[in-house]
Amino acid sequence: MTMSALGEPCVLLKLGEVVLKGDNRELFERQLQSNIKAALKGFGLKLDVRQRHGVIAIFLPDGTGVEVADEVARRVACVPGLVWVHRAWRVEKDPGAVTKAAIELLADREDVRRGVSFAVRSRRRDKRFPLTSMQLDRTVGGEINDIYGLPVDLKNPGLVVSIEVDRDEVFVFTGGLPGQGGLPVGVSGRGLVLMSGGIDSPVAAYRMMRRGLRVDFLHFSGIPFTTSESIYKAYALVRALDRFQGRSRLWVVPFGKAQQSIKASGQDRLAVIAQRRLMLKTGEEVARRLRAGALITGDSLGQVSSQTLQNITAQDDAVDMPILRPLIGLDKTEIMAEARRIGTLEISELPDEDCCTLLAPRRAETAAKIADLKQIERRLDAEELAVQLAGSLQEYKIED
Ligand code: ATP
Ligand code: MG
Repeated sequence: MTMSALGEPCVLLKLGEVVLKGDNRELFERQLQSNIKAALKGFGLKLDVRQRHGVIAIFLPDGTGVEVADEVARRVACVPGLVWVHRAWRVEKDPGAVTKAAIELLADREDVRRGVSFAVRSRRRDKRFPLTSMQLDRTVGGEINDIYGLPVDLKNPGLVVSIEVDRDEVFVFTGGLPGQGGLPVGVSGRGLVLMSGGIDSPVAAYRMMRRGLRVDFLHFSGIPFTTSESIYKAYALVRALDRFQGRSRLWVVPFGKAQQSIKASGQDRLAVIAQRRLMLKTGEEVARRLRAGALITGDSLGQVSSQTLQNITAQDDAVDMPILRPLIGLDKTEIMAEARRIGTLEISELPDEDCCTLLAPRRAETAAKIADLKQIERRLDAEELAVQLAGSLQEYKIED
């Protein structure tokens, strides 16, 4: 049902590091395809996802509107492992058809009316096509120049018309959406993110998803001594992050009573680190149950007193599992810029009653001694407490 010279709308995806993965490549591509299909499930469209050499093409059912195609492109642009997402037209493999499509593609464009400069960039993944890339550039470019009178600018064009000759068809498009880069979620295993309502932990989660980890989220609430607000906030954050991996789960541990016991131990200056160690121990227990192999936090070196080198050392000592800290070398401004880009900053900046404020001492220790912390933990029976806390876990599934 081809209505015009443009052919049918489709979405063309350019793979990132996946193409470098040698022997694992097939595995990575399969994971990526399955992630793409999962991300588009909600559409209820019958989509045809095809792996080609170095690209993936998503063909849409005949008659799919441009708006729907645009929305498909926006959604897949969130799936890690892709560097570019192009809303393209699938055109017959014939130089005349390609030229016609390119001409029609530029009709009714504001920048074309203004006389924008342009370049045609062709690529052949199928070398049997009768024209070389350069001939194709010239033919199509000449025609565009004749019809619209636009100036050619090969160095710094205002508009690029891309033509990609594939095995069974030619893709024609302008522009595109940058993808997330990185690796497909799932190829690196599973991790558990310690998720506060702050700015940093959502960004840490995003960074690790982008390196191929599927993550679960664990939030400690101050309940029963605080309201449920921090849970809503954590939920909203996980929901915002869900578009990068799908099927996300938030786990919540009521932590107020445990915090009170730490406070009662009387070591005010050590309370924050003692509590962080208890969070990590509980996290390790939860991670084991979820078959996750690492804990992830939003720590950044020196940002607050709990993140000095000594205090980070004291936290690593609390668990056997590796603690991944993808933000360790980033500045707050860099973290905030990324939070804004991935859509979590606004949520993180909402006011809430963080459980940590329950035991904010006047002066926090910046060089906690592990022996002192262990003494507090012996009195608390921290190992047993961590198992108990992990047992009080509540699950919140993320709905679309
Ligand atoms: P964030 O912005 O992520 O809250 P922060 O700069 O406020 O981080 P801290 O409050 O010291 O730093 O927390 C350091 C890390 O500890 C957080 O990034 C998070 O991974 C974990 N964390 C802190 N509070 C909680 C909580 N209530 N539930 C789960 N994890 C937490
Ligand atoms: Mg915080």
